[in-house]
This record gives sequence, C-alpha cells and structure tokens, in this order.
Amino acid sequence: MDYLYNRWVSIKERFKNKFLFIFIDFDGTLVSIAETPAKARLSRKVKNLLREIAGSPSAKLAFISGRIIDDIKNKIGLKNVIYSGNHGLEIEGPKIKFKPVVSPDFRKVLEKLRDDLIDKTSSFKGILIEDKGFSLSLHYRLADKEKIPQIKTIFHEAVIIPRVRNKIRVKTGKMVLEIRPPVEWDKGKVVLWLLARQVFVSKNLPVLPIYIGDDLTDEDAFKALKNKGLTILVGEPKDSHAQYYLKNPNEVKGFLKRLSLIVSP
Ligand SMILES: [Mg+2]
Repeated sequence: MDYLYNRWVSIKERFKNKFLFIFIDFDGTLVSIAETPAKARLSRKVKNLLREIAGSPSAKLAFISGRIIDDIKNKIGLKNVIYSGNHGLEIEGPKIKFKPVVSPDFRKVLEKLRDDLIDKTSSFKGILIEDKGFSLSLHYRLADKEKIPQIKTIFHEAVIIPRVRNKIRVKTGKMVLEIRPPVEWDKGKVVLWLLARQVFVSKNLPVLPIYIGDDLTDEDAFKALKNKGLTILVGEPKDSHAQYYLKNPNEVKGFLKRLSLIVSP
C-alpha cells in the first residue's frame, strides 16, 4: 500500500481523458469521526470543493455512507449528486431511486432486537442504539473502555439466534456493531451497480472510478474496484484491499482540491 502522493505523477496520468466517477464515504473520510454521529459537520470549504467537482461535465460524485439516506443528504446538502445510505441499501440521485427488497419479517426481528439491546445495555454509560430502518447500529465510542468487551458479548449473545437462522447479518465498524438484512448487498455491490450505469451513459469518455473510505465496510468497495479504478484508504496504512492511503480527512480535502482543478472545464 503506497502513500498516494508518493505516486502522484503516475496517478495524475490515469486521470487524463477520463470521466471521473468519485465515490466517497462520509464519517472518517470527509469529516473526522465525531463523538456521536449527530455532531459530525462538513466544512464549508470541503462542501465548496465537492460542489465544484459535481458541477464538472467530466466528473460525478456519489456519497456512500452507513448512515440513513436522509441523514447523509442533510449532512452533504448538494444537488446533482448520488446518495447511498445504509451501506448501499438505499440509493437516490438524478434519475435513480432504489429501495432494497427486504422481507417484512426483517423489521419485526430488528425491532425486537432493538428493544432487547436497549434493555440489556441500559446500565452502561455511553451506548447509542440507532434504528436506521433497514439496519441498526450500536455505537460504543463513549462507553467506558473496560466495559467494551462486556458490551460486545451482550450484543453477540442477543443476535445469535436470528443470525444463525439467517434472519439478519452482523457487521462491525469503528466503535460500532451493526445488524443488517440478510441480503447480498454491500458498498462494493452498490459501487459496481452505479459504475455499470455510468459506463453505459458515458459513451465518449472511459470512466475511471475512484473510491475513498476509511472503515471495514469500505473494504467491500476496495475489493470490487480492484484493477478497475483508484482505491484510497483514509488512515494509517494497514492490511487493506485499497491501493493507496491518505492520512486523514484533511488530506482528503487536499486531494479533492487537486481533483477540482483537474476536472474544471
Ligand atoms: Mg467511514
């Protein structure tokens, strides 16, 4: 895994005469991870850079987040871009509206688990249980460090039966445990689906996908785009399917600045 700017000269060459389809995660990528999801804010500078890129005829932006779709739309607040929430389970954009086919049974299972988890974790401080409609997140960032193993055990014990019955899937992220529907759909699948649509409409320019993300759920997208585009992990270099890394959201801002200059007409 290379530091992106150590390979900048050759990377820049790949952008020539291409339509850039830029996929960006939100938390930990565009903004530093906040104490609670509600506290994360996009800076005006970054928003302006994103607006410039979105306005270019040779680029398109898609925001791929684990948040609920209305939440990510509010956080970004731009038109003419694609939004995907709930790790790809919801997609909206110009001429796109997609909701997954999830069995009605799933909501019942999720509600039962939600109430059960609220009940079982009520004696712990710093737990946030977030019902996102198609998924449920248990955030433990603000919990006491020494209580975290116990919280994880409570979670895994609560979900074990619906999990083995394939009623739910479980994913882990940074300081978060998630329950999702038992469907073969993730950030990688949504990126390939959006990319295929774009390749179909971009007749004049070949499409180069770029994916920027920081968490475990982004690995599905890094893997999906291997040998297809540019994949960038945000954070310390580690074992990842991404080809390059940038150190933090501030360096992502610098990268967006460079992209905005490249795609400006
Ligand atoms: Mg993230």
